[in-house]
Amino acid sequence: MITREECAALDAVDPLAAFRKEFALPEGVVYLDGNSLGALPVRTPERVRQVVEEEWGRELIRSWNDAGWFEQPYRLGRRIAPLIGAEPEEVVVCDTTSVNLFKVLVAALRLRPGRRTVLGDGEAFPTDLYIAEGATGLVEGARSVLIRPEELDRHLDGDVAAVVLSQVDYRTGELLDLPGITARVQAAGALMIWDVCHSVGALPVELGAAGVDFAIGCTYKYLNGGPGSPAFLYVAGRHLAAGPRQPLSGWFGHARPFAFEPGYDPKPGVGRFLTSSPSLLGQAALGASLDVWERADLAAVRTKSLALTDLFIGLVEGLDGIEVATPREHARRGSQVALRHADGYPVVQALIERGVIGDFRAPDLMRFGFTPLYLSYTEVWDAARQLAEVLTSGEWRAERFSRRGEVT
Ligand SMILES: *Cc1c(COP(=O)(O)O)cnc(C)c1O
Repeated sequence: MITREECAALDAVDPLAAFRKEFALPEGVVYLDGNSLGALPVRTPERVRQVVEEEWGRELIRSWNDAGWFEQPYRLGRRIAPLIGAEPEEVVVCDTTSVNLFKVLVAALRLRPGRRTVLGDGEAFPTDLYIAEGATGLVEGARSVLIRPEELDRHLDGDVAAVVLSQVDYRTGELLDLPGITARVQAAGALMIWDVCHSVGALPVELGAAGVDFAIGCTYKYLNGGPGSPAFLYVAGRHLAAGPRQPLSGWFGHARPFAFEPGYDPKPGVGRFLTSSPSLLGQAALGASLDVWERADLAAVRTKSLALTDLFIGLVEGLDGIEVATPREHARRGSQVALRHADGYPVVQALIERGVIGDFRAPDLMRFGFTPLYLSYTEVWDAARQLAEVLTSGEWRAERFSRRGEVT
């Protein structure tokens, strides 16, 4: 079994170690929930203060032009593009993941007239399924069919317009074969929409190389944009050239929003996927965190992520009542480890009281996210030790650990 000293030696030669000081983490906390809400970058408060007090408070409405507010969704999109293997003009930051999925899904259905089925993963993050249900409900004859990714080929018939899948499963952390699945879906004449919420910032995402049609993702998980920070969407350049039509045709997607014309004329390019005024305070926070991401080497992030998850799995497998739900093969693993335990909820609460923050997903999954920019090998070792102590002491059986909040 690896020792804490050996972990300290790994930290000493970690090429990403310098990023830790870019994040404001409380003393005494091992934060293993950056896959749900990323940590606060130290430069974010100052950037948000500047936008609030200077751009808004002092410059007032002049900032739309002078501080580049109007351009902000595109500027942030161009900065996210390298993180997802996209061209700068294929990405825009706006709204939320759910809303963006709605927009690209309806646009995809319109690009495949005559085809009426949308396939989704029945075990996916439910908002994606709810949105697929809502979007298909608006199109005559359309339907949303829930499958498992391993059954995909059986369901890829001539009626499938689009397939929506998450690159990394939010529960088990399983990583799907994005290029392979994309190619099979497209060979069947359908369009591929990837949800990259749990992969962006966790590993290099290669949308362009795989020829992906559409993608959506959020920025408050691995990208550290802050609670409720704006999401992004990606549309392949070849589709943009064809002038796709999204359903939420608000004024920010209009070619001339300040002409105030009565008819809708969409912008050329990805800007036609905008709907409303950007949420500039959230976008300011995201901009500050992208300053950090801009300097991070994604290959190094992936290497360390796999090393951290390998370390954690090695230390916790075999603990009493624990079953590792995350795939062992690197090619099938994102940047989180999910452990099954019949009493996972109170075990996670007991861990949180000890300063090790993970989370829980019903019915029995304890989730631990590994964020290479601000986690050390030593912390992972400490977290595994704390979990072992919680299990052997049985302290999780205390009644206070079974009380559930609104958010688990
Ligand atoms: C986090 C997450 C979302 C979040 O959706 P919002 O609309 O931004 O709240 C959506 N899909 C997946 C797969 C997620 O992991």
